[in-house]
Amino acid sequence: MFDLLIRNANLPDGTAGVDIAVKDGKIAEVAQGITAEAGEVIDAGGQLITPPFVDPHFHMDATLSLGLPRMNISGTLLEGISLWGELRPTLTKEALIDRAVRYCDLAVSKGLLAVRSHVDVSDPRLVTAEALLEVREIVAPYIDLQLVAFPQDGFYRCPEAAEALVRALDMGVDIVGGIPHFERTMEDGARSVEALCRIAADRGLRVDMHCDETDDPLSRHVETLAAQTVRFGLQGRVAGSHLTSMHSMDNYYVSKLIPLMAEAELAAIPNPLINIMLQGRHDTYPKRRGLTRIPELLEAGITVGFGQDCVLDPWYSMGSGDLLDVAHMALHATQLGSGEDKKQLFQMVTTNSAKIMGLEGYGLAKGCNADLVLLQAKDAAEAIRLRPNRLKVWRRGKLVSETAPEVSRLSLAGRPETVNPADYAPQHAT
Ligand SMILES: [Zn+2]
Repeated sequence: MFDLLIRNANLPDGTAGVDIAVKDGKIAEVAQGITAEAGEVIDAGGQLITPPFVDPHFHMDATLSLGLPRMNISGTLLEGISLWGELRPTLTKEALIDRAVRYCDLAVSKGLLAVRSHVDVSDPRLVTAEALLEVREIVAPYIDLQLVAFPQDGFYRCPEAAEALVRALDMGVDIVGGIPHFERTMEDGARSVEALCRIAADRGLRVDMHCDETDDPLSRHVETLAAQTVRFGLQGRVAGSHLTSMHSMDNYYVSKLIPLMAEAELAAIPNPLINIMLQGRHDTYPKRRGLTRIPELLEAGITVGFGQDCVLDPWYSMGSGDLLDVAHMALHATQLGSGEDKKQLFQMVTTNSAKIMGLEGYGLAKGCNADLVLLQAKDAAEAIRLRPNRLKVWRRGKLVSETAPEVSRLSLAGRPETVNPADYAPQHAT
């Protein structure tokens, strides 16, 4: 006897009409027409079941702080960084925990159950790290939270950062971060990549750097990151976040760079909402999109996962905790619009990011954790188009969030009484 049986679900890979059985918090069986009994039976009604959404790039120390101490007037990355610098000395552990845990409530309601958050370690008080380490414990029953020691003001540029970064790792922060393009010189940037990869190798940790988040085509720290990854034997454990300068690079140079990244098994984490918002700010027209070369990275076999980066903070006055917003923006900005493209985009907010984070037991196979999301849409393409309600969210087989289906009631003579947006799924598209 199973604890839970979900009948007639569609899967992100396009498989239709599948039953999923859950026992002791794990997926016990995935098959058509499971006959065994279960404590609870749910009819998915031909709607999509997916493993949870995963956000591999976020700033949980800054989230929900929009307006503190003032708004970002220019809307640029650099004003965001200086605004955060104004806010940072006033941060308290209690307020940080409060905002982060409140954000996690929203995340769960959107079926987002794994987050990699950068933690600024530029203030040697490390109140950010203290707070988010506590948040990691608080939310552990429902969210896998990974923390990256992130020297926002520069590993070398900020005199206290190097020592504070190591101390944050000693406190239990999981991953080594960096921001080479923000160091004072290209040379300092390259040196910081080497030093940070060395720290990670010595401690057996993963690396995730904000890398080349600029429109400057000569910002080429990703090349150094790939080379140091190989040098320190960190293949498959290093991610470059943003990589927006690749948008503007010379094509010949990129034809050399992408194979180097593939050789180093470097993962790429673009942040489409933020990249399209913050890049291209020095352009008149044409205005660059500032998004890294996603189709070409995928083509080379590089694992690409999309992050949200920001929700309601000094850099971004938007954001909703919904990774489908990110996929929706990515589809438009990259023009990845075919049926197969949409399946890939869906993977970039689920399985690819789980792989980047090294999440164990993630997926829909037998034996995986029963972490599941039921959406009000029939497949992955419709999920990206509609960004629909997450009808049910389970963590280890236990229901943690529920949302009623979106149905509008019409008052139009001779027309139907209700409209369900999911009913408009195209019948003939493949
Ligand atoms: Zn970031």
